[in-house]
Amino acid sequence: MFQGRRQESADKNRKLPLPIKDLDAVVLSHAHIDHSGRLPYLIAEGYSKTIWATSATRDLCAIMLADSAHIQEKDAEFLAKRRKEFIEPLYGIRHAVRTMDLMVGMPYNKQFDVVPGLKASYVDAGHILGSASVVLDCTEDGKTKRLVFSGDIGRSGLAIIRDPVPPEGADALIMESTYGNREHESVDGARAQLAQVIRDTAARGGRVLIPAFAVGRTQEMVYVLHSLAREGAIPSIPIYVDSPLAIDATTVFEMHPESFDRSEDMVQKAKELFRFDLVHYTRDVEESKALSRAHGPMIIIAASRMMENGRIVHHLAQGAGDPRNTILVVGFQAEHTLGRRVVERQPILQIFGEDVPLKARVEVIDGYSAHADRTEMIGWLGEVKDKSPNLGQIWLVHGEAPVQDEFKTTLTALGYSVDCPEPHTRHAF
Ligand SMILES: [Zn+2]
Ligand SMILES: [Zn+2]
Repeated sequence: MFQGRRQESADKNRKLPLPIKDLDAVVLSHAHIDHSGRLPYLIAEGYSKTIWATSATRDLCAIMLADSAHIQEKDAEFLAKRRKEFIEPLYGIRHAVRTMDLMVGMPYNKQFDVVPGLKASYVDAGHILGSASVVLDCTEDGKTKRLVFSGDIGRSGLAIIRDPVPPEGADALIMESTYGNREHESVDGARAQLAQVIRDTAARGGRVLIPAFAVGRTQEMVYVLHSLAREGAIPSIPIYVDSPLAIDATTVFEMHPESFDRSEDMVQKAKELFRFDLVHYTRDVEESKALSRAHGPMIIIAASRMMENGRIVHHLAQGAGDPRNTILVVGFQAEHTLGRRVVERQPILQIFGEDVPLKARVEVIDGYSAHADRTEMIGWLGEVKDKSPNLGQIWLVHGEAPVQDEFKTTLTALGYSVDCPEPHTRHAF
């Protein structure tokens, strides 16, 4: 699903890569909305065959697609009322529900028949709960070739989930390239920086406001705070998770211990990963509002899309003007968003049409990306290559064009055969 400028993405989202009648099955890599978000649109357009996913991806999709439908319906309502602009939502709740009827959850590392002549299996991509690389064995005229789709590639050492497992025996590869031109801070460095920010803010008597995606990042934050609290590395201040979607997503995490990294200390030792003395989940709007009136140091993790919407906006309106507080940015903030203006530390913010002086501290932690950086992707590819004597063509996808080109140059110099295909083009292997 394309997200961005409204009209442009609406047009792109309505253009399907091939007619529905030519589509035999869908094999989904993970639940993130840029990958799963158009599935209900397929259903709205008449698709009624199987959608394959890992079990955890299926359960995350159940809450995320319903949320996506809800947001679209609300957006359309808002535009119709305020601006007399009438846009048709891409799909509604009933299409999201019907999508779940067609979606089949599969375990990792178990081959299944997609259609005659095509078998698939999922291996860990280490990106978010349930994320997978897809291994496709295609048989034609008695000959089998293996096509691997990387999905979004995660990083080794990310909390909760297992590390990526580079697939073997690939003849051709479709690979993501999102951060093909940059390096991230280390996962351990991010953890130490997080602890420091919390200690400093608590010492000032302030609040740590953490805008975070409800699915994935929020659970990662709770998990890391839990482990820091167990070690005594942060003071015992209350932690509020202020987002109904995040609460639902936490339940999905708890339903999928089979996807956890059992080599992690916390996974072995903690009875419940996401529930401990300090953490409180606020579902109610009233409870959420009451947080604004509470006193003393605390941590608030609230749902945010670039700080433009979600409950974080209320906490920012309340808290951005207080120099004791810290706004802790743990995710990418796009241009032309409130999130970006906070990262740029602009002296005056516009929130709900009011001027709010930015007096709180702003701290940015880079190390929480769920995507591999350039070095990590080259490492992943190197392992695929080592285990794939016949690896031929590599197609790069999922990244801005200039980044793809740069990554292509890097990989070509390493001896790989790389192409950046245009959308809606066909390629043989
Ligand atoms: Zn993703
Ligand atoms: Zn993605």
